Amino acid sequence: MKALYIEKENTVYLKDVEVPQPQPDELLIKVAASGFCGSDIHILKGGHVQKYPVIPGHEFSGVVEAVGSKVMNFKVGDRVSADPNVFCENCDACKSNHQIHCKNLSVLGSLRDGAFAEYVTVPERCAFHIGDLDFIQASMAEPLGCVINSHNKYEIPIGSTVLIMGAGTIGLMQMMLSKKRGAARVVMTDIKETQLEKAKELGADFTVKSEADVEQKLRRIAPEGFDIVIDATGVPKCVEMGIRLVKYAGKMIVFGACPVGSQITVDPFDIYFRDLQIIGSYALEKTLGQAIAMLQSGALDLRPLVGQVVSLEESVQVFRDFADGKTSNKLIVSFFD
Ligand SMILES: [Zn+2]
Ligand SMILES: [Zn+2]
Repeated sequence: MKALYIEKENTVYLKDVEVPQPQPDELLIKVAASGFCGSDIHILKGGHVQKYPVIPGHEFSGVVEAVGSKVMNFKVGDRVSADPNVFCENCDACKSNHQIHCKNLSVLGSLRDGAFAEYVTVPERCAFHIGDLDFIQASMAEPLGCVINSHNKYEIPIGSTVLIMGAGTIGLMQMMLSKKRGAARVVMTDIKETQLEKAKELGADFTVKSEADVEQKLRRIAPEGFDIVIDATGVPKCVEMGIRLVKYAGKMIVFGACPVGSQITVDPFDIYFRDLQIIGSYALEKTLGQAIAMLQSGALDLRPLVGQVVSLEESVQVFRDFADGKTSNKLIVSFFD
């Protein structure tokens, strides 16, 4: 089969590889759609926990091609998506329902081969039926599951004002879900004008370009501060500003991945005196089913977030362009014409 193949740091090409064989508890899935994610860039450039060589791709959907002898709830022909985090369910973290912190975690697309390939294997415990949900939206259930995982950690008070920093795919999903959950006003910032236009189209109430006077402008919109501030940039300076902009008794959600070892300056008196909560949220944890349910019912429609849909052959160049920051919106590899 053909696969996108990262041989080593900064070296990616298409390669013919063996079709993987499913273990007794695994499904072999014929991939239908597979999305690019910011973490794929880190896997290519070497800034992530990964093995080399590796086939990237952890946001995908497809059709069951074969099942291992111990598989109980899936059969050939089932339409599926999967949680790429293969947890053990035996370690202390798993046993206390914190599977994303599994001590034996193996992740599709970084620590085991992923879905930018014609076929991929996953354990049954990670797979989900998608019914007749379209494959492209089903491939976006994983990032949506990450967004839902963060929302499971706090309430959005009805009538609240929410600030979301970063209007990329994830920021836009954060906005859509915040509006669903009771935010009266969602304000978004980004450095790209095109992303802010997209945000407005999809329902953001105010947008502010992220430039020198962004903090003053945000202050004017919400003089008391924001009930909830969500960082979807992964830029330490944004997190720092976000904490200053949280309203008393409000919450700062650290969702974007800042560089490892980066630092911010926070006045702890401010956290104490203004009753702030700072909440971190990493990846997804048993939330893929919630994401699929939201997409199946049409409660959320992610199709407007899709930018380019390309073939596996085209994906090598698209991946390089993505890594160089030359693309916008979600890039999806489709295995159908
Ligand atoms: Zn991802
Ligand atoms: Zn575990």
